[in-house]
Amino acid sequence: MQNSADPQSNFERWSQAAVPAPPEWNMPGWVETIKRGVFGRCPSCNATPIFDGYLKVHDKCGNCAAPLGDMPADDAPPYIAMLVVLHFLALFLVIFYHGGYRPGFVMSAVLLILLALLCMAALRMAKGAVIGILLKLGLRREKLE
Ligand SMILES: [Zn+2]
Repeated sequence: MQNSADPQSNFERWSQAAVPAPPEWNMPGWVETIKRGVFGRCPSCNATPIFDGYLKVHDKCGNCAAPLGDMPADDAPPYIAMLVVLHFLALFLVIFYHGGYRPGFVMSAVLLILLALLCMAALRMAKGAVIGILLKLGLRREKLE
């Protein structure tokens, strides 16, 4: 009963500054953005690679100057990579044990190396996709000044 004066005044409003500004670089649709990221190409222009090495990201795209290095991908790529790869691993474990197959020492070593390579490939693809998503959303890392 004490809040009956003006119902609008009791709500906290979002300030305009809290809403991220739309990105100032041109982005394709969601599917194309994620596809370019998965293949390691600039999500904005598809002309240059995202990565300078295995996982190091270029500061800017050499062609369209999209700020690839400002995207705070953080822990999302390893999370996505583990989620995907470990589901495949669980599938193989079920097939192996349900079928009574026990890999020997050499086959186990080969499978472990394959698993490691799969994890590395999945991590790079997930990081590219996450950078593409962040770039399309315009979510840049906060600058510490
Ligand atoms: Zn570009």
